[in-house]
Amino acid sequence: MLRFRLFGFPVTVEPWHWAILAFIGGGLRIREKEDLLPVILFMVAGFVSILIHELGHAFMSRLFGCRHVAIVLHGTGGMAISQGARFNRGQDILVSAAGPGLQAFCGGVALVLLLSGIIPGGPATNLVSHFVWVSLIWALINLIPVYPLDGGQILQNILGPRRIQLTLAISIVAAVIIGGWLVLNGYYLFAIFLGFFTWQNYKMLSQLGANRGW
Ligand SMILES: [Zn+2]
Repeated sequence: MLRFRLFGFPVTVEPWHWAILAFIGGGLRIREKEDLLPVILFMVAGFVSILIHELGHAFMSRLFGCRHVAIVLHGTGGMAISQGARFNRGQDILVSAAGPGLQAFCGGVALVLLLSGIIPGGPATNLVSHFVWVSLIWALINLIPVYPLDGGQILQNILGPRRIQLTLAISIVAAVIIGGWLVLNGYYLFAIFLGFFTWQNYKMLSQLGANRGW
């Protein structure tokens, strides 16, 4: 388990984080020594990009007075844990949006650098291309209005605690439509995540229904 501090935030990187990045980066297709470098470059780009995403959440939480924010990078991405935070709904929306926002911004800056030709060719170009790809796709996926993704948390705070059933219903519909599209286009890994979220949201919705007797 890798542990370090960055900008005062304790960061923990679980072994599964590397495993999933290696898998997405084509680790299963390694046959020769030369196949190793592209996978390592993808892992580095993915790690930095997801760390930037979580730093976005962490900095915004700190801005709203939360003193204890820890970052954990795990098998399905990462999370910024704000201990003892008491945010209002508007602050919660900004904390959720700051992760994908900062990540997409950095991905966009990297894309401009890539297109401007400043980056020397070879591995450096590969590294920056992976970073752009991961940053833009990861930010976009996280903004899908499916709870508990960032987009789902933003939706939950917009609709408020009284409309939690509507949040869950929208999450299920969005997850099924986007998950179906991903399957049809061969993006099975993200489709599996969305399938899991569909099941989670359905379970929460049926529990709420049973408790409230509707
Ligand atoms: Zn996030």
